[in-house]
Amino acid sequence: MAKVFYNGDINEAVLQDKTVAVVGYGSQGHAHSQNLRESGVNVVIGLRPGKSWDKAEEDGFEVLTVREAAAKADVIMVLLPDEYQPTTYKNEIEPELTEGKSLVFAHGFNIHFNQVVPPENVDVFMVAPKGPGHIVRRTFEDGAGVPALIAVYQDATGNAKDLALAYAKQIGGGRAGILETTFQEETETDLFGEQAVLCGGTSALVKAGFETLVEAGYQPEVAYFECLHELKLIVDLMYEGGLEGMRYSISDTAQWGDFQAGPRVVTEDTKDAMRGILSDIQTGKFAKGWILENQANRPEFNATNDRENKHLIEEVGRELREMMPFVKGRSKGVVGSAKN
Ligand code: NDP
Ligand code: MG
Ligand code: MG
Repeated sequence: MAKVFYNGDINEAVLQDKTVAVVGYGSQGHAHSQNLRESGVNVVIGLRPGKSWDKAEEDGFEVLTVREAAAKADVIMVLLPDEYQPTTYKNEIEPELTEGKSLVFAHGFNIHFNQVVPPENVDVFMVAPKGPGHIVRRTFEDGAGVPALIAVYQDATGNAKDLALAYAKQIGGGRAGILETTFQEETETDLFGEQAVLCGGTSALVKAGFETLVEAGYQPEVAYFECLHELKLIVDLMYEGGLEGMRYSISDTAQWGDFQAGPRVVTEDTKDAMRGILSDIQTGKFAKGWILENQANRPEFNATNDRENKHLIEEVGRELREMMPFVKGRSKGVVGSAKN
């Protein structure tokens, strides 16, 4: 089993006399900065003028341009959307990244795929909470925390790991458990998980089930409930008790059907496809395609998104959710959760 660090294992003093620049005040940024501040860490926020800037000021932070914040800080946490990090890094962070400072990320993509290439005389590490920013903040306020990953890419000062642990502790990670990984492992498993299972695999499975029922003549509304809406209930059971806990709660008929049908849906061919997806991630093929897509202003991303949003399952779903205000209200804060 991997070693798990808890609060008692971590000396937060290494961070106490330092200034942390949190660059970005979105899902992760607002949570990190508020949790750090309440843990006694000196925080400044780096942004461009706009909505986030106003929000951070309202929340009582000193807000500076990214360059000014990077100049002032010893530890620079980059919490911009991953696609925009390389440009902001080059123009505003790198010029202020003097010897002995720390450059920190919450996801490994840009370092692992060489979109950000830091100088050798700085520490480079990762602190990645395993949850959306709103949960990182809410659990901290409740006296708990979200588990976090740390990884050291470059240890120029000899303190990189201690700093990573201290940072993770001060945002609440040490209350839930902190695991050490590498930039490579975090990046590749994160991309694989979201592509094969969480986002790509699940969306395709839901759509295929819905289409199968509708094409066989069943009502789209009924198909929506069976194939999409009820998924949450099943996932909640898995989250609480694993597959075993989920199977304990469903009927024996459902469990027997699970055993019989699962392997017919997800076959050896499906696993072969998953291995292909993993290989494209490992070789950098996926990353290259996504980087080029962004440089081209996202033509395929936008076209696919428009087409997907017009699918019958979305039209039916929009109408049904109108009639279920309890569902609509709750989804708002969760939208950002998919963005890691
Ligand atoms: P968000 O999209 O929620 O927030 C981005 C922030 O960056 C906003 O405050 C935005 O401000 C600001 N910003 C965007 N472009 C610029 C720019 N050019 N200059 C200055 N500020 C800018 O990002 P996330 O919090 O979702 O993601 C941040 C990092 O955390 C990513 O590396 C992501 O992979 C990682 N992560 C995210 C998780 C999540 O659940 N969301 C989970 C774990 C890691 P403005 O209002 O001006 O647009
Ligand atoms: Mg049923
Ligand atoms: Mg991700």
